[in-house]
Amino acid sequence: MSIETISLSGRKKEVSNKKMTFLESLYLVAIFKGLMITIRHLFKRKVTIKYPEETRSLSPVYRGQHMLMRDDEGRERCTACGLCALSCPAEAITMKAEERKPEEKHLYREEKYASIYEINMLRCIFCGLCEEACPKEAIFLTKSRVMVKSATNREDFIYGKDKLVMPLDMAIKNTPTNAAN
Ligand code: SF4
Ligand code: SF4
Repeated sequence: MSIETISLSGRKKEVSNKKMTFLESLYLVAIFKGLMITIRHLFKRKVTIKYPEETRSLSPVYRGQHMLMRDDEGRERCTACGLCALSCPAEAITMKAEERKPEEKHLYREEKYASIYEINMLRCIFCGLCEEACPKEAIFLTKSRVMVKSATNREDFIYGKDKLVMPLDMAIKNTPTNAAN
């Protein structure tokens, strides 16, 4: 009884047990056919690039490493409301809220701020939901090509404010008055 097998790809070939002819036993035709496949690929458009000399252009929806934003005066925008952590499907964000002291008005825009803000980059899936949930436009996913730097221990993948907060000079440079100059 023969068992019929169904080919999912539609490229199934029956294997023949018939005796090879003299020409077939030389394998010249088979070698030539193989060479033709190789030669055909020489003239096809290459799918690889010469990295790092060449880089691919990023997709418009690319999301790279997060940045905690400052306002025009260089103050941190985050108010430690926790909405980003709540919306994170990977539970990658943790923070600790503190009340702003009167002498800290130049550092934090809101009365409450995040004294600790951490993202576990081993958990993050770069979905961008934290950015969408934020009511203060305080967190953004940048276009940085380096999403996460390689490291040899897990602690190095917990990114704190030292790695996430926007550099002060970048915030000052982006103010409308400076941009006009
Ligand atoms: S990008 Fe997504 S997974 Fe990563 S911290 Fe934000 S919400 Fe969480
Ligand atoms: S980044 Fe935005 S959503 Fe997250 S705690 Fe700060 S203000 Fe709230």
